[in-house]
Amino acid sequence: MVLILLNFEKRDIVLIVGLLLFMIGLIPFMAPVYAALITLVMYFGIKFYVAKRRKSIEKDIGEGICVDCGSKVFNKKCPNCDL
Ligand SMILES: [Zn+2]
Repeated sequence: MVLILLNFEKRDIVLIVGLLLFMIGLIPFMAPVYAALITLVMYFGIKFYVAKRRKSIEKDIGEGICVDCGSKVFNKKCPNCDL
């Protein structure tokens, strides 16, 4: 739990509440321990994804903006249009 507290952000509350509801929804189908484990894995997965995304957004700055949608261009590609 120390790791979670270290990186705690305000919008994490929304994520945690959502995941807690998800966990409660899982409990009728499996042991609470497994539901908690799945929820923890999801939490760290989402945190990892968000951190990676934020890093790539920071990297984008300076490469330009997409003509079609106005997104920041990354690796000469628009993350929205050139997937
Ligand atoms: Zn675009």
